[in-house]
Amino acid sequence: MATSATESLRTRVLGVPVDVCADVQAAALALSRSGGGQIVTLNAEMTMAALADPALGAAIEAAGLVIPDGSGVVWALGRQHLRVRRSPGIELAWSLLETAQQLGWRVALVGASPAVMETLVERLKQQLPRLQLVFHAHGYQHADAWPELERQLLVARPDLVLVALGVPRQETWIAGLGQRRSGLWMGVGGSFDVWAGVKQRAPHWMGTLQIEWLYRLLQEPQRWRRMLALPAFAWAVLSGNPPRPATQRPAAERTAG
Ligand code: UDP
Repeated sequence: MATSATESLRTRVLGVPVDVCADVQAAALALSRSGGGQIVTLNAEMTMAALADPALGAAIEAAGLVIPDGSGVVWALGRQHLRVRRSPGIELAWSLLETAQQLGWRVALVGASPAVMETLVERLKQQLPRLQLVFHAHGYQHADAWPELERQLLVARPDLVLVALGVPRQETWIAGLGQRRSGLWMGVGGSFDVWAGVKQRAPHWMGTLQIEWLYRLLQEPQRWRRMLALPAFAWAVLSGNPPRPATQRPAAERTAG
């Protein structure tokens, strides 16, 4: 088990890495001090997606910190006798923004709709008035605009970059920047939408009952297909028979799904 606040133990759920640490904030700060890296917030849906998508699997494998965000992953770790608390990515991301303000970090935000990004920038000016926001860009740019956006982002030398492009794009985009990055880079999914007041988080009692997924489904019914991964995840954990990662399957089988 992890012993000190900054120490973490890398283990696996269905073969996908996840770090067990006493304090995810301390672990993220330790990663920052050691030169930075990618932070991934793993849930059951992403675990199943990583088994089917080699690029996502490789991004998670290379990440500096993978936190258990999602009661499914916490439950699966419990079955390995690893007792961990769920660490919602949205909470770690916000506490990193607070740290960024305290320590004078240079911060960049990428992703979400133009309206959400505009509202978020305004709200951050109110809520974290000393935050050094050195770069921001919405996530619906024309494909041709991305290389220049990436150049400007890297020139801005951010210490913390929060990326809201959805899974798997945010993880693979961050990983694709490779050695050109420094600082902490974290995929935050729908966090900008929540901070801008466009979406709500599930009420606390639903978290306690481990049914946040139901709230999400009611808010975004179009997600039902993606959510079929949840029973598949539970079955794979219970049966001890995880699907083979796509990289280990013959090409014909992979294309057949
Ligand atoms: N998004 C984006 N560009 C895209 C697709 C999505 O910026 O081309 C944003 C979207 O507006 C939202 C976030 O990515 O703010 C994805 O949120 P979601 O809750 O779907 O994240 P996930 O569940 O995939 O982590």
